[in-house]
Amino acid sequence: LLGYIGIDTIIEQMRKKTMKTGFDFNIMVVGHSGLGKSTLVNTLFKSQVSRKSAGWARDEKIPKTVDIKSVSHVIEEGGVKMKLTIVDTPGFGDQINNDNCWEPISKHINEQYEKFLKEEVNITRKKRIPDTRVHCCLYFISPTGHSLRQLDVEFMKRLSHSVNIIPVIAKSDTMTVEEKQEFKQRVRKELEMNGIEFYPQKEFDDDMEDKSDNDKIREAMPFAVVGSDKEYQVNGKRVLGRKTAWGIVEVENPNHCEFAQLRDFLIRSHLQDLKEVTHNIHYETYRARRLNENGV
Ligand code: GDP
Ligand code: MG
Repeated sequence: LLGYIGIDTIIEQMRKKTMKTGFDFNIMVVGHSGLGKSTLVNTLFKSQVSRKSAGWARDEKIPKTVDIKSVSHVIEEGGVKMKLTIVDTPGFGDQINNDNCWEPISKHINEQYEKFLKEEVNITRKKRIPDTRVHCCLYFISPTGHSLRQLDVEFMKRLSHSVNIIPVIAKSDTMTVEEKQEFKQRVRKELEMNGIEFYPQKEFDDDMEDKSDNDKIREAMPFAVVGSDKEYQVNGKRVLGRKTAWGIVEVENPNHCEFAQLRDFLIRSHLQDLKEVTHNIHYETYRARRLNENGV
C-alpha cells in the first residue's frame, strides 16, 4: 500500500522557484491623448504597488507623451521579486487623420512576441527568457457620458485579438455617481454590441467557479479610475489624491473611485491568469502565424 507520495509539495517547489527567479509583469496604457494615462502610470507606481516615484521629480508637470516609453521597477514583497514594467504610449486622436493610429501600438506588441519567439527557437536558449510581452493593455475611455467613439471601438476591436484589453473609464472624478453607473452600463452594452472581447474573456473561463468570479468582475467593468501622483494629508495619513475646491478625491479610497479595485484585480487576483492567457492564447496565435509564414 502506498504511503505519502508528496505530490502536494509541488506548491512549495513552485514557490521556491518563483522566489529564486522572480517574474516579469508588463502593463500598457493606451487611449486618446489627455485622458490621464501618464498620470495613472505614476499612480500605479506610487500607490501600494510600490511607494517609489516613477521618475518625475515632485510637482513637476508630466510632459506630453510623444514616444512609446517603458518604465520598470523591481518590487519585492515577502521574498518574491516582480519586475513591473509599464509601457506608456502617446495619445492619439489629435491628428486630423487617425487612420491606422493603432499601428505603432500593434507593432510594439508584436515586436515583443517576436523577441520572445526568437529566444525560444534559439539553439543556445536562455534558461529563463526575459518576458517583455504586454500582459494587459489598459484602454482609457473618455468620461463623456455619451457613446464610445468610433475610434475607440475600432482600436479595441483590433487590439483585442493580440492582447488582453482592460477598458477603464478615465478621469471619473468628473462624473456624478449616477452618471458613472449609467455610463459604465452603457459602455458594457456597446462593447458587447460591437463584439469586443475584453479581459477576462468569457470563452477562457475554466469552470463554473471561475465563471461566477469573472462574471462579477465583468459586471463591475470598466473600472472608473482617477489618477494622481500628488500626496495630501487626510485624517493624519498621507494619501494620493486630487485637490479640488470642494475637497480631496482620494485615489485609493474605494468610496471615491475604482482605482484600488483595478489594482487588486491586476495584481492580487488575475496576475497569473493574465500571464497565462498572454502566453497560451495571444502569443500562441502569433507564433502559429509566424511558423506558418515560414512554411515550417
Ligand atoms: P495622457 O495624455 O493620457 O498621458 O494624460 P496626462 O497624464 O498627461 O494628463 C493630462 C491632464 O489630465 C493633466 O493635467 C492631468 O493632471 C489631468 N488628469 C490626469 N488624471 C486625471 C484624473 O483622474 N482626473 C482629472 N480630473 N484630471 C486628470
Ligand atoms: Mg501621456
